[in-house]
Amino acid sequence: MTVVDGSSAADQPQEHLEMRRALTRMSRELYRQGLFTPSGGNLSVRLAGGAGILITPSGLFKGRLRAADMVRIGLDGQVVGAALPGRVPSIEAGVHATVYRARSDVAVVVHGHPPHATAVATKGLTLDGVTVEGREFGGVPRVPFLPPGSAELAEAVAGALTAHDAVLLEGHGVFAAGASLRAAADLLMEVEHACRVMLLMNNLGVRAQCVPRDCVPAPNPPAEVEPCRQIASGTPPAAAAKHTQRPPQP
Ligand SMILES: [Zn+2]
Repeated sequence: MTVVDGSSAADQPQEHLEMRRALTRMSRELYRQGLFTPSGGNLSVRLAGGAGILITPSGLFKGRLRAADMVRIGLDGQVVGAALPGRVPSIEAGVHATVYRARSDVAVVVHGHPPHATAVATKGLTLDGVTVEGREFGGVPRVPFLPPGSAELAEAVAGALTAHDAVLLEGHGVFAAGASLRAAADLLMEVEHACRVMLLMNNLGVRAQCVPRDCVPAPNPPAEVEPCRQIASGTPPAAAAKHTQRPPQP
């Protein structure tokens, strides 16, 4: 049997086949959700037994990746194992490898180009618990624009992810890390959702604020508590409403 790229089925990399398929499914899901663009976004998983990292390839359409397109690299970012001709690791393989070296608890790294999160990062707004989901990720740091694929970007992202599981990239997108494909992808989706809500609030002239559980001190809050940390930079303090005590939201 001959496949589309001219290689035979026997030539297809078979190692870690289930994980290759899982990466394929998730890449397609992220593309459908608008978190990957046709050429932007990448995804990797740490393989068991010190076998390295399986990562999406560079330069291929992200909405139709196949299991055989995935590339295995070591923790140094270099290719190991079999790969189809022309398949090279994502340009951000260095970022992924640096994060795995820094975080032994991370099994998956995902990088997307979601539009709202990119806008928030580029505007320099601060995202912290603007939605019910968002309160769970406890603040998302931001790094300034650095060239894609650069060692500087790898160090900046890995540094930001030492204390957080997601980071906003100015003019670029988001990196998220997790213990599973589902966890990392969900975090990326939730960051994008929170950024979208925040921008909608800004457009409506509504002050973005933390959800109550993140703001009201326990166990004996004063009648009127200090405003929670401002989400949208530049919001005049005088315009900040005071939080009133409300029960935790689901
Ligand atoms: Zn990118």
